[in-house]
Amino acid sequence: MIDIKGITKSFGPLQVLKGIDLQIGKGEIVSIVGPSGAGKTTLLQIIGTLDRPDSGSVAIDGIDTSTLGGSKLADFRNRHVGFVFQFHQLLPEFTAKENIMIPAYIAGTQAKEAERRAAELLDFMGLADRGSHKPAELSGGEKQRVAVARALMNNPDVILADEPSGSLDSKNKAELHQLFFDLRDKFGQTFVIVTHDEHLASITDRTIKMNDGMLAGDNGNNGAEQGTPDDTNTTEQ
Ligand code: ATP
Repeated sequence: MIDIKGITKSFGPLQVLKGIDLQIGKGEIVSIVGPSGAGKTTLLQIIGTLDRPDSGSVAIDGIDTSTLGGSKLADFRNRHVGFVFQFHQLLPEFTAKENIMIPAYIAGTQAKEAERRAAELLDFMGLADRGSHKPAELSGGEKQRVAVARALMNNPDVILADEPSGSLDSKNKAELHQLFFDLRDKFGQTFVIVTHDEHLASITDRTIKMNDGMLAGDNGNNGAEQGTPDDTNTTEQ
């Protein structure tokens, strides 16, 4: 479902990614861990087509993203990939529900269908009574759940999360982590999560260790080869 081949990336003289090969199966929840500066965020941004590699390719659902450009690339990203960041990045002047619906507006989804989907997601997130609240009126955990709901609005195949629980206390952290598994079970999404949280990394299906722009370390949590999915944890390849 995500097929990464030979990715390299430099910023000026600094080579940040030095040849990454990685396959992630549909419905897998994978964590990417490693020291600061290892290249984790850069890899996530390239998977999500927010940045381009210098060489190598990323295919999502069999579509080579390097073949897309301009509005086709933006449309692909909006439909296939959802992003969750460390800080929720909700628009302060919009309500929770309106924030969740933004990707649907961009995709041109009919208002009625967008409303239905937003209500479904709010309900699933335990936020049914918070839809009309603005971000400033929500707790940190609630804001992050709204951000996750927004990422799910267009029912993307892939959710990319960069330190999603980094700003949360331990109770909200645990709830958010559980939510990822509940969402995978209900909607079948694939999750790629960059994290420094050892507990989160320990409960994901597979942990990818990065060091100095390369995949490093040994096997995943369940004995899977690092760069390839573990069949026992994926719903489908
Ligand atoms: P952290 O855990 O601290 O978030 P990381 O593993 O996610 O680190 P990256 O954010 O991918 O690391 O950064 C890898 C290296 O690339 C760092 O040295 C960073 O300073 C550099 N870097 C990242 N983005 C850019 C950019 N746009 N221009 C120049 N250098 C960059």
